[in-house]
Amino acid sequence: MKIVIIGGGVAAFEAANAARKFSFEAEITLVSNEEVLPYRRPALSGLLADFKINEKAFFIKPESFYEEQRITVRLNTRCTAIAADHVILDDASVVPFDKLVIATGGVACRPPLPGADNKNVFTFRTYADLKKLDAALKNVSSAVVIGGGVLGLELAESMLKRNIKVTVLEMMPRIFAGKLSETESADVEAKLAEIPDLTLKFGVKVKEFTSAGAVLEDGTLVPGDIIICSAGSRPALGGSAELPVETGRGIIVDAMMRSSCENIFAAGDAAQFGDRCFGLYNDARTTGMIAGTNAAGGNEIFSPVTATPMRCFSFGLKLIMP
Ligand SMILES: Cc1cc2nc3c(=O)[nH]c(=O)nc-3n(C[C@H](O)[C@H](O)[C@H](O)COP(=O)(O)OP(=O)(O)OC[C@H]3O[C@@H](n4cnc5c(N)ncnc54)[C@H](O)[C@@H]3O)c2cc1C
Repeated sequence: MKIVIIGGGVAAFEAANAARKFSFEAEITLVSNEEVLPYRRPALSGLLADFKINEKAFFIKPESFYEEQRITVRLNTRCTAIAADHVILDDASVVPFDKLVIATGGVACRPPLPGADNKNVFTFRTYADLKKLDAALKNVSSAVVIGGGVLGLELAESMLKRNIKVTVLEMMPRIFAGKLSETESADVEAKLAEIPDLTLKFGVKVKEFTSAGAVLEDGTLVPGDIIICSAGSRPALGGSAELPVETGRGIIVDAMMRSSCENIFAAGDAAQFGDRCFGLYNDARTTGMIAGTNAAGGNEIFSPVTATPMRCFSFGLKLIMP
């Protein structure tokens, strides 16, 4: 049996690992458009502070693991089309499969505003983004972060460690609105107000990006040499313009991570289960494992946890928000 897995994140890794555990014979191929082996994506924001990689902590498994487990890994390779029994890759190769797992994760959202494609505007999702931003930050003394969520604060903390002044812009009226009460938000904001070189502005909307910074709807310029959009992500649907599977926001799956096409499974941030798109590391691990096992002939079922808590540990905060 040929099992192909598209993606190079934790869901793809878990799918490959689980497929091998279930089937000794399966031919397993993992195709990733990243230049490095699957790694722990949440570590990226901390690495922006100094880009010193501890390989053992960063990579999910070393190269030798894939060799031992007979998992063929094709890096720097993008899937460009998906059919019911084969995929096409950007080197024009056609790869047939008996079962496919789509684990293509998410794409960082770039607000559709004038200037969003300027050279000084960045998003942050992948190792390649980390490399690009790390290089850009070498010539920068101030930055604007769009989005005051957990990731926005992590990026701000890393840049402050590089002596870059940071302004975080958040359109909600207070920090973690919807997760914290007004009093709790006020306490957190008071703690953050004590951090030197960090400015947080709430209830503000950006209307444009320029080379000088972000322009708010009232015309105020928030100056910054660089702008990083940390405004959420959306599922990446496999790199194919047309898919042989039903999609909503993500690839629609059942509790066995099966799509509407019998040979195709999806997992992680790319998948949609009921009205839920996952967006969290542990969900990607679990659903990847289920998709890989079932692609190899297993019978695993996802039991959804109602709500995974949101954690924020930046700036010494210890917030676990249900
Ligand atoms: C900086 C950062 C910090 C985070 N921190 C946390 C946290 O603290 N806690 C938490 O729970 N979650 C966190 N997340 C979210 C978490 O990392 C994701 O939910 C998780 O990585 C999803 O795993 P995945 O394998 O589904 O997708 P991804 O990790 O996004 O992997 C998808 C992979 O597929 C590849 N790919 C995409 N399209 C193609 C294609 N056409 N062909 C080939 N390859 C393709 C991508 O390059 C990528 O390697 C964070 C995310 C980021 C970016």
